[in-house]
Amino acid sequence: MNEVKANCTSPAERIVMLPCPFCGGDAGVGRCYQGGGYYFVNCTECNASTDQLSGFPFTKKDAVELWNKRAT
Ligand SMILES: [Zn+2]
Repeated sequence: MNEVKANCTSPAERIVMLPCPFCGGDAGVGRCYQGGGYYFVNCTECNASTDQLSGFPFTKKDAVELWNKRAT
């Protein structure tokens, strides 16, 4: 039986954050309270941020997806 444990996050919901595309540094998720509040991801090394992209995601997951799209 391949039972999914209730406490486990499914792979689809798991947030995988890629390293910075510019310097390879670690990225972190932050929340901005301007414009109704939105999430952003920025690099802790060079400060590259999803703020420089279009779109202001309202969920952490969307912010990470935006970041991951940039990191290609
Ligand atoms: Zn960086």
